[in-house]
Amino acid sequence: MAKQTSEIVKQSLDALMEDKSFLPELTGESRAQAFASLVAILSTPNQVHKSFLRISLENGHVVRIPSFRVQHNNALGPYKGGIRFHETVQEEEVINLAALMTLKNALHDVPFGGGKGGVIVNPREQSIKELHLICKKYVQYFSDSLGPDKDIPAPDVGTSEREMDWMMAEYKSIRPGQAYFGSFTGKSIANGGSLGRREATGKGVYFSLRYMLHQFLDDHKSLLTSTNNKFAKTVLAFENKPLQIAIQGFGNVGSVAALEAYHCTYLQNKVISVSDRNVMLYNSEGLDIPTLVKYTMAHNGDLPINEVQLNEHGIKATIHSNNEILSLDVDVLILAALEDQIHSENVNDVKAQIIVEGANAPVTAEADEIINQQGKIIIPDILANAGGVIVSYFEWLQGRETQFHTEDEIIHMLYNKMQTTMEMILPRFFGDPFPLRQNCYIHSVMKLSTVLFKQGKLY
Ligand code: GLU
Repeated sequence: MAKQTSEIVKQSLDALMEDKSFLPELTGESRAQAFASLVAILSTPNQVHKSFLRISLENGHVVRIPSFRVQHNNALGPYKGGIRFHETVQEEEVINLAALMTLKNALHDVPFGGGKGGVIVNPREQSIKELHLICKKYVQYFSDSLGPDKDIPAPDVGTSEREMDWMMAEYKSIRPGQAYFGSFTGKSIANGGSLGRREATGKGVYFSLRYMLHQFLDDHKSLLTSTNNKFAKTVLAFENKPLQIAIQGFGNVGSVAALEAYHCTYLQNKVISVSDRNVMLYNSEGLDIPTLVKYTMAHNGDLPINEVQLNEHGIKATIHSNNEILSLDVDVLILAALEDQIHSENVNDVKAQIIVEGANAPVTAEADEIINQQGKIIIPDILANAGGVIVSYFEWLQGRETQFHTEDEIIHMLYNKMQTTMEMILPRFFGDPFPLRQNCYIHSVMKLSTVLFKQGKLY
């Protein structure tokens, strides 16, 4: 597991071991032993499956594509997590992402464990036929470990409902006669997917920000003003202040979060900058997000890269190099691209007071520490970007019951779940010296430890 996740899990367990009111049944030597077992269990995956998918390309060449499925922990339910198609995928990274899924599901009380898949491939360089073959082979190679009650994949970076549909179809043909709707989530609506699933992560990301800086601030004003906590001061500075927002990444997460901010007019927040793999666009008056979304949909997911393209579509913005987004003078920076974007080299350039992790692990451990010292708030991945897996859970349930909810019902259920988590975590966060990430980890680790203890797994 990457340093950050395993380190914070260990720190959380150290804090819990000292708290004698937690698992009071464990005392003396057996307490120390049980906590050592917990460190071992939670910082290593249960299984790492690896394979080389043998693919015959359209040009006649045969390639062997490295691929992984990591099953981190299933104490709370079947393993659950996306499959990533990206040329930079690494085994260690997939293990870390699977661990984050275990913590994310525990945090939001979703009855799943944590898993993650990865394929080392650049999907932009493959034909549709080749991608279809990769999906089929992935399911063939890992089918023994997958299933609605064992391990349920979903989309992640580089995959979408199209890939989930293909994978579910392959799973169905390998296991005829068995329940298959719940074998994959994030499928198309036609194939048993859930309304609202595609937008769920981006909507949840914006909800986490909106909830903390508006509803929570309004409802808990006296708590925030009565403490000396530096993070409470950061939040209070935003009272009744429209936010200037920058968003790194304009894919499924970033673009939906941007649309949410744009349409949420009563708050008067403005998305003044967005970026993707090619460019950063900037307009201090606020960008026309719906037009940008329309543009990217017609242009392979890419933002306009020059004046001609901007003018043709009536988009008012200036064009800059994409890494400038991290150092913009904004209130909020939403990171919705890939891992390790803010690191020790660029962390001191960050001006935003609030950083929201739409992507998984976009801030390195070193940068995280510095940002916390500065009193800036990071709404961490396992809290902010859980919308996807929460609605995956609703999809899985709907598939079992073969009864489906409306989109409004799904989004309402999503916000309720995220609000329940935030109502539980935030008062504690503003009352103690730990950063929000650590507060979330402590809650997840408490839940997992209690379950593992009660299941007799610690001795
Ligand atoms: N890939 C998403 C995540 O990282 C969603 C996972 C899921 O729906 O299982 O949370």
